Amino acid sequence: MAQTLQDTVKLNNGVEMPWFGLGVWQVEDGSEVINSVKWAIKHGYRSIDTAAVYKNEEGVGQAIAEAMKEEGVSRDQLFITSKVWNSDQGYESTLEAFEASLKRLGLEYLDLYLIHWPVKGKYKETWKALEKLYKEGKVRAIGVSNFHVHHLEDLLGDAEVVPAVDQVELHPYLSQLELRKFAESKGIQIEAWSPLANGQIIKDETISKIAEKYGKTSAQIVLRWDLQSKIVTIPKSVKEQRIIENSSVFDFELSAEDMAAIDALNKNERTGADPDNFNF
Ligand code: NDP
Repeated sequence: MAQTLQDTVKLNNGVEMPWFGLGVWQVEDGSEVINSVKWAIKHGYRSIDTAAVYKNEEGVGQAIAEAMKEEGVSRDQLFITSKVWNSDQGYESTLEAFEASLKRLGLEYLDLYLIHWPVKGKYKETWKALEKLYKEGKVRAIGVSNFHVHHLEDLLGDAEVVPAVDQVELHPYLSQLELRKFAESKGIQIEAWSPLANGQIIKDETISKIAEKYGKTSAQIVLRWDLQSKIVTIPKSVKEQRIIENSSVFDFELSAEDMAAIDALNKNERTGADPDNFNF
């Protein structure tokens, strides 16, 4: 169980990934993303999750460079994730997209590179490109995002490298139990996107009651539930106080009873698209 914000999980290739990170979807390039990432690193975060399609890799890169200087953090203490966008899928185009992301981020390597969505007829070729980048040492771990069990089964059928991570929408209203069991049996780490259901989960009454009991906020309860469920989590906030709040989850423990009460909130409800039916 993670004891601090910098604690890591060992992925299936031995690479250590922080359990906790900052997401930057819908964060504007420029000062908004630069501030968020710098605050996060200043307050102890080591993992940042971006993607080409977020159009803020340049700002993320600038923030990383500045934070490394100002906070005395070295590149190898950070864990940077990006993702290949759907329109770039395919072998050559993925290799090009990776180089473009790396350049915008101003980095020499990535820690994790993900296939953003399982684009039908394309994701296997895309995976071959990720395997090449991995073998060349340009990325320390490769994985997927928004893959259901059947997508993983299909990919595993001829993959040389087993994905290290599957990043999926996951929160108390969409707890993804079947996928979590399958991923665990294959050594694939589950990572939650929209862990706060894009902010919606804060309003849940059951969670509010539990929060009151522990003297914590609803966001903290949900993020602690992720950690105790062995799920890597990457809440997004552009506010310094919330960036601190979200990561202050290492000084209490949810009881088995409260974990079960949160588990019982599942209603298979998505805030985002279903990976079997998306049109982007
Ligand atoms: P989250 O579930 O992290 O929720 C973010 C929202 O909640 C924002 O509106 C934020 O507002 C608000 N919020 C954050 N902290 C608190 C708090 N303590 N109290 C109240 N409100 C709070 O949503 P995201 O959809 O951003 O998911 C997180 C990350 O996952 C993304 O940023 C991205 O990196 C990744 N992701 C990946 C996807 C994929 O397809 N692979 C898809 C979607 C997300 P404010 O900023 O104003 O604080």
